[in-house]
Amino acid sequence: MISWQEKSTVASNVKNFIASRRIPHAILIEGVNETAKRELAAYIATAAVCSGESAPCGNCLNCHQANAKSHPDISYIVPLEGKKNLSVDQIRELRTDAYVKPHSAEKRVFIIEYADRMNPQAQNALLKVLEEPPADVIFILLTPSKTVLLDTIISRCVLLSLIENAQETKYTEMANQFIDLLLSGSEYEMLKLLTPLEKSRVDAENFFGELALCVAERIKKGSVHARTLDRLFDDTKYYLDLLKTNINMPLLICLAVSRSKGLLNTKN
Ligand SMILES: [Zn+2]
Repeated sequence: MISWQEKSTVASNVKNFIASRRIPHAILIEGVNETAKRELAAYIATAAVCSGESAPCGNCLNCHQANAKSHPDISYIVPLEGKKNLSVDQIRELRTDAYVKPHSAEKRVFIIEYADRMNPQAQNALLKVLEEPPADVIFILLTPSKTVLLDTIISRCVLLSLIENAQETKYTEMANQFIDLLLSGSEYEMLKLLTPLEKSRVDAENFFGELALCVAERIKKGSVHARTLDRLFDDTKYYLDLLKTNINMPLLICLAVSRSKGLLNTKN
């Protein structure tokens, strides 16, 4: 589990739009970690109402009220007691509410904590206000995954994803494994590792892309195999180019393995 600050793309995106005073009208935060999502939503909401110099300043009355969850311009929309879902009526009420001017801040913020618990009817009701949002209103939707929402909703929102990219991790591991196998000269193991890529060009592209990054990282850290790695780095570009043609996939895998094995004989 990670906090939102650790997700560097999200953190820089958020800090940028706050610093330039351009907080989007509709923000979708996806992630499985409830705390991280809520903290991020609260941070943006506090920045939106803050009247200090660098928002959220933490010192002004608006910040204090926001931190105490008692700011009149920040509303939390949650399912009614005893109900699992957000009702259409709740969303309609929110829509009416959104056209009321802010009480004490410059902006009003509506945090929809369980956006995934809206049926399509409720989502369509929300869509109407997302399409023509009142100027001083910010909607923040929280969901475990954007995929559970209507595409029309997703396309209206700026997405802040706190989902850790499992694919990324998978290919990083595979790429490092490949480098280690290459350096130990295990041709058969390399072949076994890469064979599943035969089935998908996209997977192969992800792998070689990640391999280039991992190789570059090892070169940067300083490796006794610098020359082999240099050549491997060039080769990954070559494989990525080949993938753009309609090369036969099993052939590409064999080529990558035999060429890589050959690299080990280059003098370092
Ligand atoms: Zn403040």
